[in-house]
Amino acid sequence: MAKVELLNLSKNYPGRKTPVLDQFSLTVDSGELVSLLGPSGSGKSTLLRLITGIEYPDSGDILFDGKSILSIPPNKRGAVLMFQKAYLFPFLSVEENIGFGLKVQGATKQTIQIEVAKILDLIGLPGIERRKPAHLSGGEQQRVSLARALIVRPTLLLLDEPLSSLDTAVRQNLQEAIRRIQHELGITAILVTHDLGEAMGMSDRMALLLEGKVAAIDEPMKLFQKPPSSQVAKFVGIDTFLKGRVNHGTLETQHGNLTVRTNGFVSDSATFAIRPEHIEVGSELAENILTGVVKDCMYRGEYVEYQIQIDTMVVRARVAMPAAMIPHGEVIKVAFPAEHLFPLTA
Ligand code: ADP
Repeated sequence: MAKVELLNLSKNYPGRKTPVLDQFSLTVDSGELVSLLGPSGSGKSTLLRLITGIEYPDSGDILFDGKSILSIPPNKRGAVLMFQKAYLFPFLSVEENIGFGLKVQGATKQTIQIEVAKILDLIGLPGIERRKPAHLSGGEQQRVSLARALIVRPTLLLLDEPLSSLDTAVRQNLQEAIRRIQHELGITAILVTHDLGEAMGMSDRMALLLEGKVAAIDEPMKLFQKPPSSQVAKFVGIDTFLKGRVNHGTLETQHGNLTVRTNGFVSDSATFAIRPEHIEVGSELAENILTGVVKDCMYRGEYVEYQIQIDTMVVRARVAMPAAMIPHGEVIKVAFPAEHLFPLTA
């Protein structure tokens, strides 16, 4: 385990106009799991390749516990990578697969046997030493691949979309297992994923990678509830933005006035946002309301999702069950509780 510092990393590939990573900085504390979220092509894999040493940055530095690792060859850096596919050796047993790293390090057969048994217990698959990868399910293969990564006691565990090929139940199960094991062993880890739910459930902090830089980094709940900018807000599922003049606690939008909590803040052009599950829909609502027309209403199991047209704006609201199905075209009130409207900085 180690504190990992990525300092002003820049990387471009030949033929590209803009760099993939542009002065990218991120610190991961010892024993912390930080997830990296970002659209496809935003440079997440490139970053992992720089850390493992498969690629070299154009500028910047990578420190493990304060020491640069850039001049250290990839196999000596102590960073291990777990991929979307398990990539196990098909003709080797589970024990041989997991023990491979220890064998390369010169460990005795007996040590390998003891360590493999211990790690199989830890990943919840005791007694499968003799099996071949082909006789394991996808989830079991990924557990074995995690065991193989962990047996060498890495300084840093890099998880590159490790669960994205698994079905939902297996995936949830493994999310919990990885998180538990990472905590138990106190390993510093970086998780790359495009799944917001996965990032929120597994990480201590979540970083959003946009245009080669960290656009925002914070605890998942904080980023989810109060993202700093509209770019980040969109990424965490917010699509209602209300613009207007702020005057004495009132946001004057082109659709009508709404009360907002501002702590005396005055602005000629502010943008407030609200999460879809904080918007209320109904005919009895009285406070902080605008009126709109139902465009769409969908039952989603735990909630009903409404699309409501308010002048030129379409608002998406998610109301927890029990919620009414409202026919298309019906005129309805939409409430934006002041305590849930928050200002964006950009
Ligand atoms: P992500 O993992 O976020 O999807 P990548 O790091 O794989 O993003 O890629 C970032 C960008 O760099 C993409 O536009 C991709 O096409 C480009 N890229 C990645 N690897 C190479 C390479 N070896 N040569 C040229 N361009 C590359």
